[in-house]
Amino acid sequence: DKANRKAIIAGNWKMNKTATEAVELIDALIPAVKDANCEVVICTPFTTLVTAVEKTKGTNIHVGAENVHFEKSGAFTGEISADMLVDLGVEYVITGHSERRQYFAETDETVNKRTLAALNAGLKVLVCVGENLTQREQGVTEELVRMQTKIALNGVTAEQMANVVIAYEPVWAIGTGKTATSDQAQEVCAAIRKVLGELYGEAVAKATTIQYGGSMNAGNAEELLGKPDVDGGLIGGASLKADAFATIVAAA
Ligand code: PGA
Repeated sequence: DKANRKAIIAGNWKMNKTATEAVELIDALIPAVKDANCEVVICTPFTTLVTAVEKTKGTNIHVGAENVHFEKSGAFTGEISADMLVDLGVEYVITGHSERRQYFAETDETVNKRTLAALNAGLKVLVCVGENLTQREQGVTEELVRMQTKIALNGVTAEQMANVVIAYEPVWAIGTGKTATSDQAQEVCAAIRKVLGELYGEAVAKATTIQYGGSMNAGNAEELLGKPDVDGGLIGGASLKADAFATIVAAA
């Protein structure tokens, strides 16, 4: 059950903070989250990763990227490979964020390729799934999230699942200040765990961390994280303020 799973609070900085600005935020975060009872991750822009890895050495803060390309190397101008991230000391990467799907034409298939490439390179992966408002209103949330989860994990082995976290992020809740209710978050996180059980068996399903993301903040984190299948959070806006992020970390 929940007590046996790793709670993970991950910040997703998105396209915010220059490397110079990041120093200040990380300096404030280090003391603020040092007594965390959960795993603390910051996912930062590529240009900030070197600084983030350097600054967090010897602390309990883990560093992740926000995206990764699926090819090993080659003529893919502007892209970053999993090996490049590993070489920097980056530990995590986000795949399938709804902003990547929406603005950069990512599909379930490319999310799957990125997830596999990242896992094969030794990264831990935060795989994002979630419905948009129309889909929720049409009543297809569970089917959609089941499908996104299955396709994203196609070819991922049960062993590799130890390095996979699923982030349930309803698109209508991201950056909108409109959080899912804790019951809505619980319902879909439980559905995701059920899919994991069908794919990998009960042991893997019970061991996998499932996060909620979408306007989680210092005020609502405790309620959301109190739900039995919500094991952590993927935090956008509130991860850019050390005190807000630390409050969420303390709630996990
Ligand atoms: P938000 O973003 O917390 O700003 O809603 C969450 C996310 O996109 O991961």
